[in-house]
Amino acid sequence: AKGAAMVTAVAYRLAAQRKQIDAVLAPFLLSLETLRDVKNKMRTELEYGLKRETQDRATVKMLPTYVCGTPDGTENGKYLALDLGGTNFRVLLVKIRSGRRRSVRMYNKIFAIPLEIMQGTGEELFDHIVQCIADFLEYMGIKGARLPLGFTFSFPCRQASIGKGTLVGWTKGFKATDCEGEDVVDMLREAIRRRNEFDLDIVAVVNDTVGTMMTCGYEDPNCEIGLIAGTGSNVCYMEDMKNIEIVEGNEGKMCINTEWGGFGDNGCIDNIRTKYDKEVDEGSLNAGKQRYEKMTSGMYLGEIVRQILIDLTKQGLLFRGQISESLRKRGIFETKFLSQIESDRLALLQVRRILQQLGLDSTCEDSIIVKEVCGAVSRRAAQLCGAGLAAIVEKKRENRGVEHLQITVGVDGTLYKLHPHFSRILQETVKELAPRCDVTFMLSEDGSGKGAALITAVAKRLHNIGQ
Ligand code: BGC
Ligand code: MG
Repeated sequence: AKGAAMVTAVAYRLAAQRKQIDAVLAPFLLSLETLRDVKNKMRTELEYGLKRETQDRATVKMLPTYVCGTPDGTENGKYLALDLGGTNFRVLLVKIRSGRRRSVRMYNKIFAIPLEIMQGTGEELFDHIVQCIADFLEYMGIKGARLPLGFTFSFPCRQASIGKGTLVGWTKGFKATDCEGEDVVDMLREAIRRRNEFDLDIVAVVNDTVGTMMTCGYEDPNCEIGLIAGTGSNVCYMEDMKNIEIVEGNEGKMCINTEWGGFGDNGCIDNIRTKYDKEVDEGSLNAGKQRYEKMTSGMYLGEIVRQILIDLTKQGLLFRGQISESLRKRGIFETKFLSQIESDRLALLQVRRILQQLGLDSTCEDSIIVKEVCGAVSRRAAQLCGAGLAAIVEKKRENRGVEHLQITVGVDGTLYKLHPHFSRILQETVKELAPRCDVTFMLSEDGSGKGAALITAVAKRLHNIGQ
């Protein structure tokens, strides 16, 4: 009788625990209706960003990029590309060949950007970038070449031409001083001048989404959307000129960098933000900004997970109720750990080993709960991202005035590429919310570098700038 009573007590405790955990994760389960609402709100914000009267207050900034066409295969030459703002900083040499044997060859080097430089002064940041370029030119033996350069700069920039871009505001992990409101091309040029060792012909400043779209567009002319689901989150697409009120002219199309990460900064999706989202936002470098990005991108998902785990531990549901030193550390859950923890092939023992590596001593039960929390957070991220993308493809469909749209989206980003479920859930959500669009997802091979070079090549061909 005593044994039976104990079993009942255990069962009762487990059921109570289950209830508490479900209650914590419930706000992460979004109904189809809620996702539709997100899609509709995104659509509204896209329109605000395009209209002259509303664009300076718009949270989705819809920045014109002055990229008006996709490559046509006639591009050729040698280009330098810089890629700043993703997981790594890279310098690349890109050789493009045109004609029947068209090809793109790339050589690149990855450089670290130490935290104190990301968050130091603008001069220090750009001096560091130029130092890396110098190393690379030396390494490749091309210091005297004065090559045309495309600068993939993955932050919001207001552009007045392809070769100019004023930083609107830093995002992700960057916060160098004296850069916001400045032209990043001027800052780079000045840093090159300060060093006084080599010269470069800076032709284009390019968002990573645009580079990704162009890279995929090189293979598939139907690619008119570029998506990044990585450290940050963003989308660009080809918009009809007549819909872009702040740029003169009504003919043809121009690529718009939506900067959709800022969606929700006016409170329009506060109904789905949880207290964990608010904590992550408050602890970030740019509190109050990039609210949608903070629910959907790799830099923040681990932080949301960590906040939930802290809460569950406080409620005595995890880690024997003990909040360890490591659980207090911001940033311990990088995308790659989330991806590993959620991998279906992983036995629970391996999940425990990963948690161990992060300094978290877990029981078997703990590891099941942690995996569940990761799943809830990444699933919501993929669904929200899918709802946003559904708004974009629906807009494209209406622009073309067709019943059914066939379109390709070029995609890059560590979350999309490494996470075991993100891409599938994203695609399912788009299908569900934009049933009249037939969307092909194309992984970009090194979109940021290759794309910047292609854009530089197109710009040189069209405007004959530089050499
Ligand atoms: C930036 C975008 C960028 C995205 C992906 C965001 O934080 O604002 O410009 O495209 O991250 O890298
Ligand atoms: Mg990138």
